Amino acid sequence: MKVQAAVMYGVGEPLRVEELELAEPKAGEVRLRMGAAGVCHSDYHVMSGQSGHELPVVLGHEGAGTITAVGAGVEDIAVGDHVVLSWIPYCGKCFFCEHAQTHLCQAYKAPLWDGTMMDGTCRFSNAHGPVRHLSMLGCWADNVVVPQESCVPIDKAVPFEIAALLGCAVTTGVGAALNRAKVTRGDRVAVIGAGGVGLSIIMGANLAGAEQIIAIDASPAAEIKARELGATHFVDAKKDVGAEIRALTEHGADHVFEAVGKRMLQRAAIDYCRPGGQVTFVGMDANDATIDLPSTGITRSEINVTGSIFGSACTTRDFNAYGQHFLDGKLPIDQLIGRRYRLEEINNAIDDMLSGKPGRGVILFDQGAA
Ligand SMILES: [Zn+2]
Ligand SMILES: [Zn+2]
Repeated sequence: MKVQAAVMYGVGEPLRVEELELAEPKAGEVRLRMGAAGVCHSDYHVMSGQSGHELPVVLGHEGAGTITAVGAGVEDIAVGDHVVLSWIPYCGKCFFCEHAQTHLCQAYKAPLWDGTMMDGTCRFSNAHGPVRHLSMLGCWADNVVVPQESCVPIDKAVPFEIAALLGCAVTTGVGAALNRAKVTRGDRVAVIGAGGVGLSIIMGANLAGAEQIIAIDASPAAEIKARELGATHFVDAKKDVGAEIRALTEHGADHVFEAVGKRMLQRAAIDYCRPGGQVTFVGMDANDATIDLPSTGITRSEINVTGSIFGSACTTRDFNAYGQHFLDGKLPIDQLIGRRYRLEEINNAIDDMLSGKPGRGVILFDQGAA
């Protein structure tokens, strides 16, 4: 079938929204009509060359839609199901899956990095040859084919624009707070960066009953959304953030999250943490980034420095749990959405994200004929 997709042809170039051919799903694969897809910094990291990728590629790794066809051997997903796409599918059989760390499953590493289906081939193509799928997804297209393992069925009561955000920002942030840091009632939490992921950490910390949630961002415009989602304080990143946090918390925060992915901010996060507290890196700098740690300082202070990938989530459990929390009014995911776009406006959506416009941008697709 013919589909419309946002295709990346070169580093530093705008995406081209154009017609591609989409092949039928093979064994173990499914086709979706996309309902909504989010715009994430990780997509831009591919566009800018920070994350190297084979080209051309359809970007987009945060989306949800309706199943319209299933390949041979697909039993757990049926035409008509609504699914959230996951950029870390898991096998359920490996060491990590058996140790309740499905987010660390290594089974699909090669096709995930190569941007192919599991058999090493692509379902998108143009006149010149195959076009790759970012994270085995490529969900900035009105229709996509993906492996069944990348799909998590979700309650149809959850709107597509909410379901889409479960596929990256919300789960990454809420899961970092609940699964990895295990924020609990009364905790004092500092969050560096109030973009889609930082705001989701704030939502998660609020759900956990944190007493203080201090949002830190370089853009004063971020304050309104941060407070709407549960921040009790906002600190302008241009100020002396360490002094502000000590003034608010006395000894430093119980939990500090870095949600930007910058070495300097990751290093600073350690200074914002109280002795015995935990620093969780959620943002991602370049693949080979390193920081200097105050080694004696860490011995003396017993500060725990760790990371969290994709909210340390079990996607089949957490996408549905967070979707239900939205329906119950416990996670105001709708307030995370800053702007809505058509696929043709994808380059504007990316520019708006880069210029620091508050909240997440979401692409909405036509839900007309199948
Ligand atoms: Zn993402
Ligand atoms: Zn596994």
